[in-house]
Amino acid sequence: MHRRARRLPAARGRSPTAARFETIRYAVREHIATITLNRPHVRNAQNSTLILELDRAMHGAAEDPDVRVIILAAAGPAFSAGHDLKAVVGQEAPDAWRLLRQTPEGRLRHERELYMEKCLYIYHLPKPTISQVQGACVAAGLMLACMCDLIVAADDAQFSNPVLRMTGAGVELLVEPWELGQRKAKEFLFLGDPIDAREAWRLGLVNRVVPRQQLSHATRALARRIALLPPVTAALVKESVNHAFDLMGKAHSFKYHFMVHQVMHGTDTAQRALAARQRAGSIQAMVRARDGVRVVRTGSSARRRQPRQTR
Ligand code: ZN
Repeated sequence: MHRRARRLPAARGRSPTAARFETIRYAVREHIATITLNRPHVRNAQNSTLILELDRAMHGAAEDPDVRVIILAAAGPAFSAGHDLKAVVGQEAPDAWRLLRQTPEGRLRHERELYMEKCLYIYHLPKPTISQVQGACVAAGLMLACMCDLIVAADDAQFSNPVLRMTGAGVELLVEPWELGQRKAKEFLFLGDPIDAREAWRLGLVNRVVPRQQLSHATRALARRIALLPPVTAALVKESVNHAFDLMGKAHSFKYHFMVHQVMHGTDTAQRALAARQRAGSIQAMVRARDGVRVVRTGSSARRRQPRQTR
């Protein structure tokens, strides 16, 4: 039953997962695969490499008969700050995906293949998955965390999606109506303010809140219990629960929002905001210049301060 941690095995001959990873870590022990986002110096911002490596690891875990449960964890103080925008706004050398974004059809392909489809693969993966979240979980970080079946949060977790404040129509998959309910979803998106772990638990966004020091232990304890289920039982019931939500319209609402998101990218408003962001050098500076509102980063979370009444 107990196995030593090991790297992903070569899957009979050709394995896309056998190579070493740069931006994630992968280990299997006691039938539990743990995939750890490993770019802590940038709060696990998701660049193309990380997204592709995560996808490769998820496929490997799905195909490994020894794996029964998957934990998606993150190194460092934050779960994920979202997509790595440095390449997107041109502050970093563009990769092949970034180059696609020069046209609306290329941008659609980039976001469909790299963002939407990779996320939905995790959502539909036929094994139970658990996100293990500490610190900041922002925008596409929240989208990613929500692709897993369960979420265990540390007491310092902060969930936010400030993308509307930066002009965008949220991220590619609009998870908020499903995760928070209609009214809270709108407040969360319009204001962009973070929800702390306790509020996230109250709203049903996360399953459990545990002290930061116990996060990996508590997540693992949960995974170990789920690993006792016969794999076929877990797979069929997961599919059935997902199907219940698809019957309520989840899959179609995801598709609809994805196109809304594309339309928003192409608007004059969004194009001007992107240009302003590139001039200002950072999103914080751009929002400050536009709204007179200071976005202050404190530790792992971003807080917003209203401008003073008198200066
Ligand atoms: Zn987008």
